[in-house]
Amino acid sequence: MTASEIRELLKWATADVISFGGGLPDLTQLPLDEYAEVAGYVIKNYGLKALQYGKTEGVDELKAELSRFMARDGINVKPDEILPTVGSQEALELMARVFIDPGDVILTEKPTYLAALQVFRVYRARVIGIDMDGEGLRVDRLEEVVKRLKAEGARIKFIYTIPVCQNPTGISMSLDRKKALMEVASKYDLMVLEDNPYSYFTFDNIDTRPLKSLDSEGRVVYMSTFSKIIAPGIRLGWVAADPEIIRWLALAKQAIDLHTPTLSQYIAYELLRRGIVERYIGRIREVYRVKRDAMLDALSRYMPQGVVSWTRPSGGMFIWVTVKGADTDDMLKLALTKYKVAYVPGRAFYPDEDVHSDMRLNFTYPSIDQIYEGVRRLSMAVREYLHMPS
Ligand SMILES: *Cc1c(COP(=O)(O)O)cnc(C)c1O
Repeated sequence: MTASEIRELLKWATADVISFGGGLPDLTQLPLDEYAEVAGYVIKNYGLKALQYGKTEGVDELKAELSRFMARDGINVKPDEILPTVGSQEALELMARVFIDPGDVILTEKPTYLAALQVFRVYRARVIGIDMDGEGLRVDRLEEVVKRLKAEGARIKFIYTIPVCQNPTGISMSLDRKKALMEVASKYDLMVLEDNPYSYFTFDNIDTRPLKSLDSEGRVVYMSTFSKIIAPGIRLGWVAADPEIIRWLALAKQAIDLHTPTLSQYIAYELLRRGIVERYIGRIREVYRVKRDAMLDALSRYMPQGVVSWTRPSGGMFIWVTVKGADTDDMLKLALTKYKVAYVPGRAFYPDEDVHSDMRLNFTYPSIDQIYEGVRRLSMAVREYLHMPS
């Protein structure tokens, strides 16, 4: 394990810094009165059941509700194919703990989710990144890499992918691409770990079908989370997979934390059952779309033309910006101290390459005013850093 250089750098962030650095959802729209009512109801109504130790396998009522929730997206799993976890971060930990031996290969998009890379590295996996294009993971490249690795005798444990509104790029896979991925997985008998925090609140009309809904062979382990659709502080996520895999994950989980907090599970169950989650999803979808549009507008208004390019996400929380010729690690100090704006340098999102020209910007947490002002400041930092006229 290593301390994150980014966290160290972000200590420079003072109160007057506009931050695009975090991965925080906007909680200003939370229906707090409804949450408070539900929390009170759960304690009064489920009482000791909600406060007692529970089964590692999770609360049955929640699992039945999750089975219905996922069915809307074409995922048909029974409650015993679901395991509630402490955020989807724990699902990553469990998958790594159960499946990865030192030197095993994990294939990911390049760039990919930082927190997943951290877990895979703890278990000493050899993480190999696969290129992406506008339709997501390049499955042709994936197949070439798989062939080469098989010839070398490498053990490939799984493909980790975020098909919809990927973190950090915001790119979504087309349906054709998803089908191609499933064909390659089937052809080479590979397991797929699908991380899907964002398909529930996309803003544009894109294909949000999960890989799990295309999986007839039980090779997709699906994970999602309430962090973005209820609140991250509830620390609740879930895995849906073949019952045998669920049994192994539950066994590993027992040794880590016995079970996911019962209180959180009952609260999530009630919020789902009463349609509160559904209504909240509708609300944040609108709020986030407006913020995404504001950031895209600010980028095209302020950034110097020709050197700066960016993705146009259909959902999620991030825009991925590439500054030709810049070292975004190096530029961060200037951005923070002189221009009072923060971002996450892109290098840490690359599993196996040193790429320094990217940065990840979060558009969900800052206000609209902060988005415009922050992007304006960032554009000045870029110009100064690249010695361009301002
Ligand atoms: C936000 C996010 C999560 C959520 O993690 P939790 O532990 O459930 O809070 C998982 N994966 C990705 C790619 C994310 O962006």
